[in-house]
Amino acid sequence: MKTEFLSLAFVSFFLFSCASVKYTDRKALMLISEDEEIKMGENAFSEIISKSKVIKNTPQAEAVRRVGLKLSAASGKNFNWEFVLVEDKQVNAFCLPGGKIVFYSGIMPLLENDDEIATVMSHEIAHAVARHGAERMSQQTLVNAAGNLAALILEGKSQQTKDAFYSAYGFGAAAGILLPYSRKHEFEADYIGLILMKKSGYELNAAVNFWQKMKAMSEKSPKTPNFLSTHPSDENRIKNIEKKIAEIR
Ligand SMILES: [Zn+2]
Repeated sequence: MKTEFLSLAFVSFFLFSCASVKYTDRKALMLISEDEEIKMGENAFSEIISKSKVIKNTPQAEAVRRVGLKLSAASGKNFNWEFVLVEDKQVNAFCLPGGKIVFYSGIMPLLENDDEIATVMSHEIAHAVARHGAERMSQQTLVNAAGNLAALILEGKSQQTKDAFYSAYGFGAAAGILLPYSRKHEFEADYIGLILMKKSGYELNAAVNFWQKMKAMSEKSPKTPNFLSTHPSDENRIKNIEKKIAEIR
């Protein structure tokens, strides 16, 4: 009885903790408020900035800021947006919750014009707008909570039942809930990014060019650059982007 009540409470708690993702209307699990998320993003951002060499007043730094301002305005999201270029050889760019976007100088040689900068920038802005970071944290919380609940349900059951359950659950937690989502987030960020590029008047085909360059780079170089390790560039991604461009046009 106690566990049944808890299961019910558990399920209703998560049913009422969903938010719709802007632009796609996908229902996403959100256990973290936007204020909490913004606070975490701001703290992480000031720590990163205090340890980095921020590049200012160069044509590249200005381009990053110019493109960021234009795309973030088009996003309709009222964050305290910041766009910085940091001196670092790594091929990387990332977004912290709440609209803090960092480009490393190492990625700049791959971005030959504003349209290509907009490809990476719009993708990062999309992660912030869709609150992907908060969703990942919420999923992790759910996986942990499900584990705790399972322990309660399995109280007094034989060791064999427990082992069977945990191996099934462990598999589900790793492969069923957490992994496919990061892929889903990547596709969703590509899609929302293209919408923002269109709204801001950037050339959508720049996204295909950029990802083809990244793909060529990953095939050529023995060690994967940072941006590619979290952003696999393969035929699938490029095909999906081409399909979405046709849809958006
Ligand atoms: Zn991404």
